Amino acid sequence: MKDLSKIISLKIKQLRQERGWSLDRAAQETGVSKAMLGQIERQESSPTIATLWKIATGFQTSFSALIENEPPHSDVILLRKEQPKQIHPTDNKVKVVTLFPFDKALNVEMFRLDLLPGCEHLSLAHETGVIEHVIVISGNIEVLVNGRWQKLAKGEGLRFAANQPHGYRNTSAKIASFHDIIHYPKAKKL
Ligand code: MN
Repeated sequence: MKDLSKIISLKIKQLRQERGWSLDRAAQETGVSKAMLGQIERQESSPTIATLWKIATGFQTSFSALIENEPPHSDVILLRKEQPKQIHPTDNKVKVVTLFPFDKALNVEMFRLDLLPGCEHLSLAHETGVIEHVIVISGNIEVLVNGRWQKLAKGEGLRFAANQPHGYRNTSAKIASFHDIIHYPKAKKL
């Protein structure tokens, strides 16, 4: 995952530079320690999904902006098959494919998440106004919203305000996949 670490490192450095933030300021804004941010920038340590979300929220950017190269500026974006990414060794039961990275005009990004059997992935609250649309593609998943795990089968979905702790899990013995379409409340700088 050297490529991913490199993209994340470059993105964070770019965001800090654009905002004129020191590591101290970035730590304050994101809630991620200065030491950890430094390690991520030097590619000595790779962030978990939870840490990436803290960074995205603190910098008021999108999740995909941190893990993808700049999308081409075009009215038509072709989606090719891509290997699902494991973001961090501790997130070994969640794989992420960015289908369409963050779009500034729509304030939307689209992912596919693959949950391996036994996966339970919890997320802290995102920025107020972030809406997630979860649609199951294959298998069965459960989504934690308002403190309750909701079962979803293939073809079923859930839309929820993600400014609260939430989660996704796969209690079955088969891999399960879902689309996650994330809408942000306002345009991002990057
Ligand atoms: Mn989320």
